[in-house]
Amino acid sequence: MNWKIPLSDVDFGVEENLAVQEVLKSGWLTMGEVTQKFEQEFAELHQVKHALAVANGTAALHLACTALGIGPGDEVIVPSLTFVATANAIRYTGATVVFADITSSTDLCVSPASIESAISSATRAVMLMHYAGYACDMPRIMEIARSHKLWIVEDAAHAAGASLNGRFLGTFGDIGCYSFFSNKNMTTGEGGMLVTNSDELADKLRILRSHGMTTLTWDRHQGHAWSYDVVALGYNYRIDELRAAIGRVQLAKLNHNNKRRGELTRLYQETLQELVPEVIVPFQEAKGLPGYHIMPILLPTGTDRIKFMETMKAVGIQTSIHYPPIHHFSIYLAESQKAAGRLSLTEFVADREVTLPLYPKLSHDDVLQVARAVQRAIRTGS
Ligand SMILES: *Cc1c(COP(=O)(O)O)cnc(C)c1O
Repeated sequence: MNWKIPLSDVDFGVEENLAVQEVLKSGWLTMGEVTQKFEQEFAELHQVKHALAVANGTAALHLACTALGIGPGDEVIVPSLTFVATANAIRYTGATVVFADITSSTDLCVSPASIESAISSATRAVMLMHYAGYACDMPRIMEIARSHKLWIVEDAAHAAGASLNGRFLGTFGDIGCYSFFSNKNMTTGEGGMLVTNSDELADKLRILRSHGMTTLTWDRHQGHAWSYDVVALGYNYRIDELRAAIGRVQLAKLNHNNKRRGELTRLYQETLQELVPEVIVPFQEAKGLPGYHIMPILLPTGTDRIKFMETMKAVGIQTSIHYPPIHHFSIYLAESQKAAGRLSLTEFVADREVTLPLYPKLSHDDVLQVARAVQRAIRTGS
């Protein structure tokens, strides 16, 4: 499809090209010095002690659960309104997924009250997701975690560089997980990052990332080690130097690009409010410094969403849905039945959510065009 205005677009320039060429010239392609620098810079920007780069965001989520010792018999609370990987990562460990509802039709992050009502004697952790890079109610959620002795894993796939009360999203809980998939605020094609302030968890994550081995190929190349022990059932979830090199360039642009996303988001909010006040634009009261990853709107009652999306497509504008709620998927039928009646806000939002184009290179004129197209599509009764 040749979209006039696509849903998202990368910001790649000559620097990414040069960075990759440097790695190719160096002849060292697996996790090494460039990855270490990428991790250090990511940790510095997010003011966190440890950052570990991995193959993708899903691997980060899986390692987080594994390092916390989550397994069969344990329950982990997770919002249903997130990407399926958030819940899948829990199931990889053999633990049980328990769904929680969102906060409201304008705050699509998981509801602290819903988390509390989902807690049982088997609950070990909450895996939350900062929807579109807007912060969950972390003060309240950390309080719940402390009083019930629960681990907190933050799916911060949308939230690189975003903060609340001066603290970065992904660094409130025990482990934070980021994704650098192609459509994220910073990308390496495929890639991810784990962050933690715990030395013990960082050690575990480091070992689990690379086959459970106590030393790395890089250490042996450096002459630091001759052999290794295997102390855990680990995985190969490593990143490579090519991706880490792209990541360093993308990280350097992150704050600037997030700011640009913020400007465009405000322009969308103002324009939509003026042209189509019947459309709900969530997160207008958002606290902190959001990541503005995507631009969700809620269509008015009675609007046919598929028809709306087709009308937008006819004028070359790509839209999407974030997300079909996980509890609607076939493989989550059992968990869905257990959550029956507890996910009413998720149901309400999931039926009418549409995501509009948002990326740093979008122009003000593009935003006005999209907003006018939204108005036409709704008023012509699509
Ligand atoms: C992108 C994304 C993931 C998965 O990340 P990958 O790098 O694609 O594995 C997980 N959770 C959320 C909310 C995401 O948006």
